[in-house]
Amino acid sequence: MLDAIISTRELLGRVDELLRTQRVIGPVRRDVPDATPPVRWFYEPVSSARQLDLGFAYCVYSPKQYLLPPRETLLEFHRTPDGFSARPVSDAQPTALIGVHPCDLHALVTLDRAFSHNGDDEHYQARRRRLLIVGVDCGKPCTPGVYCADMRANVADEGFDVMLQPLGAGADVERFGVRFGSPRGRAWLEAGGGCERPTAADERAADAWQERKEASFGRTLTTAHEDLPAMMARSYDSLIWEATARRCYSCGSCNLVCPTCYCFDVHDELDLSLQEGRRCREWDGCQLQDFALVAGGHNFRSKAAARLRHRLMRKSKWIGERTGGKGCVGCARCDRACTARISTVEIYNQLAEEV
Ligand code: SF4
Ligand code: SF4
Repeated sequence: MLDAIISTRELLGRVDELLRTQRVIGPVRRDVPDATPPVRWFYEPVSSARQLDLGFAYCVYSPKQYLLPPRETLLEFHRTPDGFSARPVSDAQPTALIGVHPCDLHALVTLDRAFSHNGDDEHYQARRRRLLIVGVDCGKPCTPGVYCADMRANVADEGFDVMLQPLGAGADVERFGVRFGSPRGRAWLEAGGGCERPTAADERAADAWQERKEASFGRTLTTAHEDLPAMMARSYDSLIWEATARRCYSCGSCNLVCPTCYCFDVHDELDLSLQEGRRCREWDGCQLQDFALVAGGHNFRSKAAARLRHRLMRKSKWIGERTGGKGCVGCARCDRACTARISTVEIYNQLAEEV
């Protein structure tokens, strides 16, 4: 059931209104004629709603960087006559994230759970509290190889303040069906007075759109979603890990683009005077060679095969068990980013065949 209808013109007007008081981030199209594909989208800050391309296919990176930046300062400290003092640093600012597909909404829910598990991560939560999330539904697989439907992540019922369903096709969308996910989302969109009540014809159009969407997603994984954790547990000692990892460069690109990878490293930086410094957090990646290196020189996962297995065990089993969210949303960013052309879909299907 739709809560409202809004025209594209009214919607963009509401986004421009947001720009008066906060940062707005959304999918921005970049033409890269020499690259394949020659068109790419990135979540970037915009200065006008017209810069947003809500009909985008997929963004190269997920929006996670706006909740968990690749690098941030957690606190600053300096020496005092009595020892030292420290003060927390936070760059949290009101932000609206406009145009998030269902897969990335599921990933944001996973991050929310991970960063409130065993206590709140203050830096993450400070940004999250100031974030307005506007989802936009996708009508078909954004690119070959995605398996979001297999991961039950191509439809989202939570994780947004407002969800938009295009009621047309491609760039010609003139109206959106709206579902509200929070009072805050409703208050923002309805404040402009441009929302209409959905008619019976609107509801039929939305249902037909949804049916077309469901029909367009085929099956990519041979293992059913609910059977994946058990299948992976049985595959722990498979030789497929070693055979596949021979091609892996341990570059960490798959971690970098993944919307549900949230591992980080924390280190202190001291100024040359040794009187002051800062504590910083940076993304880390389980595929990097020294990710599991500890003091004394021991590396718990010194072999690429162990690291590859660790990543996919996290994605298909362990993150879900720990957070209750989805460890993998099937966006296939990792497969697209891998220069060694290692495919998670192929690995899952080979393991299933072996089991
Ligand atoms: S593991 Fe790959 S397919 Fe799954 S969420 Fe991460 S990038 Fe997307
Ligand atoms: S992107 Fe590919 S080559 Fe690089 S670490 Fe990941 S699986 Fe290995």
